[in-house]
Amino acid sequence: MSADIFEYAPAPESRAIVKLNSEYGLFINGKWVPPQSKKKFFSINPATEEVLARVSQGNQADVDKAVKAARAAYNKVWSKTKPKERAKYLFRIARLLQERAREFAVLESLDNGKPIRETRDVDVPLSAAHFFYHAGWADKLEYAGYGDNPKPYGVVAQIIPWNFPLLMLAWKVAPALATGNTVVLKPAETTPLTALLFAEICQQAELPAGVVNVVTGDGATGAALVNHGDIDKVAFTGSTEVGKLIASSIADRGIPATLELGGKGANIVFDDAPIDEAVEGIINGIFFNQGHVCCAGSRLLLQESIVDDFLTKLQSRMAKIRVGDPLDKNTDLGAINSAAQLSKIKELSESGTKEGANVWSAPCSLPNKGFWYPPTIFTGVTQAHRIAREEIFGPVLSVLTFRTPQEAMEKANNTPYGLSAGIWTEKGSKILWAAQQLKAGVIWANTFNKFDPASPFGGYKESGWGREGGRHGLAAYIKGAK
Ligand code: ADP
Repeated sequence: MSADIFEYAPAPESRAIVKLNSEYGLFINGKWVPPQSKKKFFSINPATEEVLARVSQGNQADVDKAVKAARAAYNKVWSKTKPKERAKYLFRIARLLQERAREFAVLESLDNGKPIRETRDVDVPLSAAHFFYHAGWADKLEYAGYGDNPKPYGVVAQIIPWNFPLLMLAWKVAPALATGNTVVLKPAETTPLTALLFAEICQQAELPAGVVNVVTGDGATGAALVNHGDIDKVAFTGSTEVGKLIASSIADRGIPATLELGGKGANIVFDDAPIDEAVEGIINGIFFNQGHVCCAGSRLLLQESIVDDFLTKLQSRMAKIRVGDPLDKNTDLGAINSAAQLSKIKELSESGTKEGANVWSAPCSLPNKGFWYPPTIFTGVTQAHRIAREEIFGPVLSVLTFRTPQEAMEKANNTPYGLSAGIWTEKGSKILWAAQQLKAGVIWANTFNKFDPASPFGGYKESGWGREGGRHGLAAYIKGAK
């Protein structure tokens, strides 16, 4: 070790606060019930491959039971509960999430592999913020511009991914409950544990039985839920591939869907940008949450005159990213969520090299067990390369260049997706011009990955339908609202 390297001492967060059951049932009608399938699967810690718990595989009969519970709760209780009473439950849930924040943060890091610094500072506080925000709306919907008597759909099927398990649950459950819908939620198969802890929060908050039901399982469970004949709406976050399947399976049934799908966000750095700030923003845009972010800035578009200087600074910053134990408070980049995701990242990265781009990975030692990938960039990327077009969903950045602002806009928009973009320049007029040209649902200027429950989120084209968050997000849960 050279004397000028400042080493951090290990700062592990204790996992003692998390009390895991060895097995979990399904949460239906306010109770824990064994799955009718009698099948279980393991949820593992992707940083160590240790088994955390055995979780139930819900089948069609289980889904049916959950939908029936949600329907009965809607008809008998929730549709008759006064809006200000609904608000109280949402407030209570928000407060309980805050009270048990550390427990949720540690559990999320264990089950997902993301650093505790992120679960502690982002996932959990933002999840609580979504419940607080929507608690505020519950009794003010008449003033939201959706007419005098805004009505919920009824029973909502919600399917969420593994990259932000608790936060995606909050994005879905909070607006659904605030507007008076009941829910059947299917968490992702690799990260079900915080949704199961959330079920305990529902019990603790004394939420009426059946208002929230959690059915764990894989894609087949999700398909059984989407295809159930008695759901009134679908809300899905996940891959574009599954989003298309869902869209076609509900197409002839006249039920609406909100789909939050993939992205290939462009982070555009103009030659007049504050370079050091932009480097930090690019790092955050692609390496936050191991790049498992649908709105990640996974394409860096650099103006040609600054390429060499920028890449030198970027690489030296990447070399300082600390990769390792997600429960260590100094860790920047944790584990890849699953073996399957790791092999997808590897396959796409190999295609980058084969197609002629130049790869560079930050020097770092990766743990022997678990699923890991180093912070990586590809330079010399052209628009035809797969790594410029397909979502890698990992800590891999593709660098392209441009000469004129117009060329930057054309390259940024040359994608089937349209979820996010970033603009880095000192000039306000250039920001406004570029924001108008870019076909992306969320555009950040001189910052990246900033989220707030009041701000709607969603995409164009293959990035999905509808918005989540803010007043626009409420519309997705109100009959006839736009
Ligand atoms: P990823 O490829 O990133 O894992 P997916 O879109 O496959 O993302 O998964 C997102 C969520 O959708 C998960 O909860 C998963 O179980 C669920 N899912 C997968 N296939 C289907 C399907 N055919 N119908 C409904 N849900 C599905």
